[in-house]
Parts: sequence; structure tokens; C-alpha cells
Amino acid sequence: MRIGIIGCGVAGSVLAERLLRAPGITVEAYDRLPPDAVEDSGTGLNVGPNAMKALRLHLPARHDAVRAASLPWTRWFIDLASGRRLFDLPLAEVAEDAGIRLRWSELYRLLRAPVAGITRFGLELVAIEEDAVGRLVPVLQAADGARLRPRGYDLLVAGDGRYSALRALAAGPTTPSFHGIAMTRLLVPEAADCPYDDYGQWFNGNARLLSYRLPGGAAYIAGGFPLAAPEAEIPPEARTAAFQRALYTPETGAACPAVAWMVERLAAGVDSIHWARLQEAPLQRTAGAGRVLFLGDAAHAMVPTLGQGATQAIEDGIVAGAVLARGGGAEDVAAWRDTRVGFVRRFSLEATDTMFPGADPVAGSLAKREPEFLAKLRRLYTDVPRPEEFSQ
Ligand SMILES: Cc1cc2nc3c(=O)[nH]c(=O)nc-3n(C[C@H](O)[C@H](O)[C@H](O)COP(=O)(O)OP(=O)(O)OC[C@H]3O[C@@H](n4cnc5c(N)ncnc54)[C@H](O)[C@@H]3O)c2cc1C
Repeated sequence: MRIGIIGCGVAGSVLAERLLRAPGITVEAYDRLPPDAVEDSGTGLNVGPNAMKALRLHLPARHDAVRAASLPWTRWFIDLASGRRLFDLPLAEVAEDAGIRLRWSELYRLLRAPVAGITRFGLELVAIEEDAVGRLVPVLQAADGARLRPRGYDLLVAGDGRYSALRALAAGPTTPSFHGIAMTRLLVPEAADCPYDDYGQWFNGNARLLSYRLPGGAAYIAGGFPLAAPEAEIPPEARTAAFQRALYTPETGAACPAVAWMVERLAAGVDSIHWARLQEAPLQRTAGAGRVLFLGDAAHAMVPTLGQGATQAIEDGIVAGAVLARGGGAEDVAAWRDTRVGFVRRFSLEATDTMFPGADPVAGSLAKREPEFLAKLRRLYTDVPRPEEFSQ
């Protein structure tokens, strides 16, 4: 079976590695960017315990490499901007593995390394055609405009992310749902004086900061704040130091040292902030009568609240690899994955409750200590199939 992967990001790289030595399978991958480049959205990333469990069980060498290059994510706390603690969870209470914190570019580098020999970079998918026996042929364009039609594939896999060209070509345009929340991301390269370490969140009204330290003395600060309406654009005045300061500084009383530190970094780095709006796209797993398989964001772009985008892309790559290696097809991947993905998407949106206008961040954060929420977290972080389940 010939498998062509479009997009060698998180899901594409993991799938390619999982299939490298699968008997009877030839796998080749293509990416539009040069090997060391990352989309400009990337700064820091927390990858959930569930993806680390999946890597540990199925790709132990990759697990060890990724863990060695990252800091452990072992705790999640939620404070008010004043410093009042609302929630403090050691992840070991709900997970079998620690998560990780690392730079986005580092994750890409580590996942792409083992599949460099079968990946061609600098080639962008622009069309698909069929060969004489009905296999799909990707049409790939280089930076100089030259077009390549490498060969026909029995299965084309979309690992080309949120704005997947393969999904648009094979299944038509996708309409994202916006949820009226602006998202900011900032990398602070020199953060030796950062007054916290592991994953924390701080609320000022419905505006929320999320931050943690990264390897190499850096820190990552993500912000989120409500917009005027679900579909509203981010107003230009939000992109100023004064706005960012006011957003997270309590109206009465002082900001706690952590929030004061982040507010200074946001104000100083306002021109380096990456901007996005909270959005998700409908789940679609296959197209082209089973000849196209969608993975990661190409299949199910989700809200980033629980840090599950790249995490689920890793699970997708692992499970799809196990299914395809034993002779399954795109529909079998859907059967293995989509109930869980549906749960993760609903839970991620549910956990966004405290950021919506009018919601009470204190009551919402306290509710996350309740058994119902913790049981869902446990399901999220541990419910990963073992290799032997695929041979039954
Ligand atoms: C604000 C925000 C914060 C986030 N934080 C987290 C977090 O903390 N933890 C987490 O787990 N997730 C997080 N995510 C989500 C995460 O970034 C994505 O879910 C993840 O990168 C998806 O992986 P993927 O493999 O599907 O696609 P990507 O990683 O996006 O990879 C797509 C690849 O396809 C290539 N490509 C694109 N188009 C083409 C084309 N036409 N032809 C050839 N190649 C192409 C790209 O160059 C890229 O290499 C966040 C997302 C946002 C927006």
C-alpha cells in the first residue's frame, strides 16, 4: 500500500514514523515549508499526559527524545489576578504520565527528525488528480512555481493543519465556528526572573492569562479575552500596551507578582504578540470514498483551552499508524478515533466556560475541583489504546 502524507507537522510526522517499518507499506511525506521552518503561530506548547502516554506505549524512542528536550508539566493551578488561589491540581491525581512544556519549533524538530529520509520539504499541495487506476496523485508546487506529480497513492493523508488544502480539495470548504474570544501568545526568551514555573492561569474578570516556563530560560504567556460578539474581529486598540495592561490588572487592589510580571512582558513585547480568535472546525475524518484520511487539525481543529490540539494530533498519528499498519483503512481510523475526539472537543469547549462574558470565573474554577470534572480529566489524560489492542 502506498501512503502519501501532506503536511509534516505534528500528526503527519508521528504517522510517518509509526509507518516507517510497517510491512507492505510505502510511506512518503511532503511539506510546504523548509525543514527548519515553523508557521508563525508557534511559540510555546504544553502537550498533555495522554499524548505522552501514547508516545511511551507506541513510539518509545520518540517519547524519550521529546521528554528529554522539554520541561515536565505536573501541575495546574488557577488564581485570580489578585493572587487568590482557586484551584491547584497535581496532574498525577488524574494522569499516569506527566505532560510536557516546550517550544513549538523544538517539537517539530524532534518529530520530523526520524522521517527526514522520506519527507520532501518546500512543496505545497495545490491540487489532486487521479492516475489511470484511480489512485490519487498530489500536485505539489515548489517556491519557484514548478509543479511535481510524484505518483499515485492508495491513501492520501491530510496532516496539513487547520487550513488544510487537502481537506478543501477533497471535501470542500470548511466553515469554522468562532466563540467571541481573542487569543494572544507571546514568547519571553529571557525569563530568569519569572516568579512561577509550571502551568498556571490567572483571571481578571473573564480575561485570562496562562503561562509557564520553557526550557532554555524562556517563558510562554498566552492571553484570552472576550470580544464584542462571537464573530467579532479583534479591535485595533487591543493591540496596544495600555490595553494589555488594563486587561489583566485588577481595578481594585494590586496585581499579584506573577500577573505584574506578565503584564510588564506583554506591554514590552506587544508588537511580537501572535493573535488569533478562539475557533473550531467540524470533525471530518475521510473523503474520496476512503482514499483520503484527515488527521490532527485538518480533521478536527478544536478550541485550545485544554491544550489538546497538538496532543490529539499525536494521538491521531499513533492510532492511525497502528490501524493502517495492520491493514485497516480510513474508516477504521474513524471508528477508533472519533468517539474520543468528540468527547475531547466537547470537554475542551466546556472547560472554556470561565472565559465567556458574564460567566463567573470563581465559581467556574471552583467547580473544576468537583469529582465530575476530575473524572473527565482522568478520561482525557489516560484513555489511550495500548499496542496489543490493535492486534485483537
Ligand atoms: C492559540 C493556540 C494555542 C495552542 N496551544 C496548544 C497547546 O498548548 N497544546 C496543544 O496540544 N495544542 C495547542 N494548540 C493547537 C496546536 O497548535 C495544533 O492543534 C497542532 O499544531 C495541530 O497539529 P497538526 O499536525 O494537525 O498540524 P500542524 O502542526 O499545523 O502541521 C501542519 C503542517 O502542514 C504543512 N502544510 C500546511 N499546508 C500545506 C500544504 N498545502 N501543502 C503541504 N504542506 C502543508 C505545514 O507547513 C505544517 O508543517 C494551540 C493552538 C492555538 C491556535
